[in-house]
Amino acid sequence: MLGAVTTCGFLGSEGGNLLLAQEKARVPAKAAKIRDVEIYPFTLQQNVVIKIALPTALATDNVFVRLRTEDGVTGVGEASPYSAVTSETQHTDVAFAHTLAELVRGRDPFTIAKIVDDMDVLSPENCSIKAAFEMALWDICGKIAGLPICCLLGKYRDSFETDKTIFIGTPAEMAEAAQEVVRHGFRTIKVKVGESPEKDIARLAAIREAVGSDIGLRIDANQGWTPAEAVRSLRGIEKSQIQECEQPVPYWDMDGLKYVRDHSGVPIMADESVHSPHDAIEAVRKDAVDLINIKLMKTGGILNAVRVAQISAAAGIQCMLGCMTETSLALTAAAHVIASQKNLIYADLDSFLFNASNPIIGGMEIKQGVVYLPAGPGLGLDIDPAFLKKLTQA
Ligand code: MG
Repeated sequence: MLGAVTTCGFLGSEGGNLLLAQEKARVPAKAAKIRDVEIYPFTLQQNVVIKIALPTALATDNVFVRLRTEDGVTGVGEASPYSAVTSETQHTDVAFAHTLAELVRGRDPFTIAKIVDDMDVLSPENCSIKAAFEMALWDICGKIAGLPICCLLGKYRDSFETDKTIFIGTPAEMAEAAQEVVRHGFRTIKVKVGESPEKDIARLAAIREAVGSDIGLRIDANQGWTPAEAVRSLRGIEKSQIQECEQPVPYWDMDGLKYVRDHSGVPIMADESVHSPHDAIEAVRKDAVDLINIKLMKTGGILNAVRVAQISAAAGIQCMLGCMTETSLALTAAAHVIASQKNLIYADLDSFLFNASNPIIGGMEIKQGVVYLPAGPGLGLDIDPAFLKKLTQA
């Protein structure tokens, strides 16, 4: 199962018959042009209190984008803006979506590299809403080609393990939450910390005792410590056997990341410090990290996420692909990227589990902590028509 990779192609074991059937099933290949752009802001309630060392939202306030070609092929995308990291809100994403709509109208979806470049020239920021448009373009390209996005990118694996996150609470609350995660079949837990070294050391000790030694633990301080506090915390936490520590210090302190890396002995992962391929180069040049957490909402989409993964791979750095508060729409786009990149060895694709409802039909599935991709072309999913009907276009 894990590590296996199945064929993508039209020329499977059934040869010509399969090819014929797929030829019939797919959309006729002719020059495609984006004609319609629809923008849908929406809100989902969350089923847990998301407490981390950064300001947190009480609901999921995201934006769906739906593009349609002149031939009626539709592609969907999602932005999950998080102002503390990308300076975006649902409000700013909707406003900028109208600008991006003008940019993509009339364009050939297969010219994604040029469209991404044009979007990045237009705005180096607004990455979450740029990601929404870009994943909708990939969805259309996949449907026209009759292939899942991971096959367009070049597939490396079929399935992979994801962690599930537990949020800041008392040691007892977090230990109980960790046991619940294990009961649902997850083998790795991401633990939010970064409040104070002493409290965080106590939290990890309680969690390790509650889950035993076979469960993987990784921690995310969300910039909550100074470099000195991070080293002190990690020395205390080390006995709880953690895989890595994510973003121990403020995002702007690349030297601080290197200091913690050099003095703690724990593998250090950049998250908020690395958004773009340029940031990844900076992390490599400074020899600041062991790992990078890539998010589509930080990179501005799939293509730049792959670029960060590739820069990291060339530098011998392994990566995680993580999330903000996406539904399984944008998480499935992320899953396609993980399926295509060898050095994406960690996944944190759990945010839709914290939403009280999931308005997506199809898409990725999690069984016993393992993510499986859908077989259909493009993203392999759709927005539930009943949910979409209730929304108002912006
Ligand atoms: Mg993080």
